[in-house]
Amino acid sequence: MSEVKIAPIPDLGQRTDEITIYAGPCSVESAEQFDEVAECIADLGLTWIRGGAFKPRTNPHSFQGLGEEALKIMKSAGDRYNLKTLTEVMDSAHCQLVADYVDGLQVGARNFQNFSLLKKIGEVTADTHQMVLYKRGFAGTIAEWLAATDYITDHGNTNVVLCERGIRTFETATRFTLDIAAVPVIHKQSLYPVCIDVSHPAGQRDLVPSLAKAAVAAGADSLMIEVHPNPPVALSDGPQQLTPAQFRELVAELRELAAVLGKKIV
Ligand code: PEP
Ligand code: MN
Repeated sequence: MSEVKIAPIPDLGQRTDEITIYAGPCSVESAEQFDEVAECIADLGLTWIRGGAFKPRTNPHSFQGLGEEALKIMKSAGDRYNLKTLTEVMDSAHCQLVADYVDGLQVGARNFQNFSLLKKIGEVTADTHQMVLYKRGFAGTIAEWLAATDYITDHGNTNVVLCERGIRTFETATRFTLDIAAVPVIHKQSLYPVCIDVSHPAGQRDLVPSLAKAAVAAGADSLMIEVHPNPPVALSDGPQQLTPAQFRELVAELRELAAVLGKKIV
């Protein structure tokens, strides 16, 4: 009889009493813009900054991101402010480039079932075990999400965070419908930490604080929140981004809520 092999799971089960916030602008637009957000995040004692370098825009004539220039801006701000960096990779051809510049790689909702991209990310991070934040697609079920996660982990990197970012329903009052139940369901069915992106389902900044508090209350392991120094002039997702002042206020509230649950915001 052949021996049953159990794959080693070195990074699994990283759920802790810490709630990580991945904050930062939707798009990296300039060094000045990114630094202003980095300074705010570092000043709050947080650990990660996000930013878009390659943007998956619905319309090809919309701002597509600064590409490698944005990666350089992120690296330099990350080094200067001692923050870990997270950005989306959209194309298999860019996986190594992106992995060379940032700490964490994001798979966007539009690439939920881009299996060749998921495989490539798994290959590129097999040795580094860089964090992969894998977003749910607009119309993806949790079962499909968990199944496809294996495309990333099959090469040995199990350092995956599953990010719920809202799904498509008949409701139009919000940009997407936030499936808050994804948190307990995924916690029940896997050991992966769950992130709730509160900005993309909200679509409008005044809804963001309520969704963020709901995510913490539901047991989310991390939150994604878009922050821009001057949202009205943002090159993408202006209406949903918080100003640094609004973000500070929200983090203070989330810290109080987290403390009640015996958790810490980092
Ligand atoms: C983003 O995080 O900026 C983004 C494009 O997200 P999503 O893939 O969830 O739309
Ligand atoms: Mn965005």
